[in-house]
Amino acid sequence: MASAQRQFACDVVAQLRQAGYTALWAGGCVRDQLLGVTPKDYDVATSATPEQVREVFGRRRTIPVGASFGVMTVLGPKAAGQIEVATFRTDGGYSDGRHPDQVQFSTPEHDAQRRDFTINGLFYDPQADEVHDYVGGEADLLAGIVRAIGAPEARIAEDKLRMLRAVRFAARFDFAIDQATLHAVQHHAGEITQVSGERIGAEMRAMLVHPNRAAALSLLRSTGLESYVLPETTSLAGEPWQQLSVRLGRLEGASFALVLAVMLAEIGDVRAAESISDRWKLANRDADRTDWLLNHLPIGLAADTTPWPQLQRVLIHEGAAELVALVAAQQGADSQSVVRCREKLALPAAELNPPPLVTGADLIAAGLQPGPQFGELLERIRDAQLEGKIATRDEALALAR
Ligand code: ATP
Ligand code: MG
Repeated sequence: MASAQRQFACDVVAQLRQAGYTALWAGGCVRDQLLGVTPKDYDVATSATPEQVREVFGRRRTIPVGASFGVMTVLGPKAAGQIEVATFRTDGGYSDGRHPDQVQFSTPEHDAQRRDFTINGLFYDPQADEVHDYVGGEADLLAGIVRAIGAPEARIAEDKLRMLRAVRFAARFDFAIDQATLHAVQHHAGEITQVSGERIGAEMRAMLVHPNRAAALSLLRSTGLESYVLPETTSLAGEPWQQLSVRLGRLEGASFALVLAVMLAEIGDVRAAESISDRWKLANRDADRTDWLLNHLPIGLAADTTPWPQLQRVLIHEGAAELVALVAAQQGADSQSVVRCREKLALPAAELNPPPLVTGADLIAAGLQPGPQFGELLERIRDAQLEGKIATRDEALALAR
């Protein structure tokens, strides 16, 4: 997949050039490649206008996702995915602190200037294997510095989300934030509240699902952003704050819902889950999972002494593996509770989660009236099954009657 995508990114550049346009890889993919990381996706910047990009690749292979900003999605072969092709542009004013009021198609030099940080402002020519650096990004990559392109105060005023992006990139690559950029963030931290909850939430998600999430949290604190984006953790200091950092560090490949559960368990305020999910407009799926994890944490923490049928009900839930990870974050991976849960989760499916003895349809077929208590009845039959009190369909039907 990765190499098919890379090949397609080369092809897109080649085709645009054949048609007489300038085309270069741009932004994150150049940065990642120089760092020796496989880029998540490739972006191409070009002198072709969106309409010209459509002519080169055909209408069926292009989607005008952000044509007013000059962005066109070009669809590749199945294994290669898609690539965003953006026309070199200069952004006009930002009266809403997010969308440029107008964009003007321009040159690579100008296009680099509108990007946020020097490490994100690089271009790469895949045919000549050459980096085009108009902003000193290569030196900052080598030195490990996140530095705003141009005047930090002005760049933050244009788009306040850049403050969170600075933290995210610094944490992700274990980079320092340049002094002037850092001061500007500290000075304007309170203005992050002008950014929509969704955009903040998306940024927080990206920051917190990354393995370096503890570093991100500590940068949120040192920049002053924490008070505005995550006031819930500001009360944690000293030992509990250290502990949270240790616990976050123990997570591997964690979902956003799990990371939130680890943080909220530390804060110990049940209402915090709701206010965070409202604020960041979390998907119900995430919010529900975080809730479920926090509600079942006590059973998880005491899994070594919890009676099996009770624990089994929890371990057959689709959130069980995350619950065990949450317990492991708190107690360490070799705690008795974690060890017991892992053993049980490794049982054959038929033993851990035996198929129900009867379904609702079975009960109706057996002459029971469907009604509101049906669900509860099925639950009780299931409990009896898991507790070993009944083992056959007939026993289940007898119990139902
Ligand atoms: P990631 O790997 O997290 O996607 P990325 O660098 O590709 O990192 P994107 O958010 O995908 O980040 O944006 C692609 C590029 O667009 C960035 O590298 C940067 O040059 C530019 N960019 C994105 N967001 C902004 C912004 N808010 N202000 C200025 N430039 C931005
Ligand atoms: Mg990207």
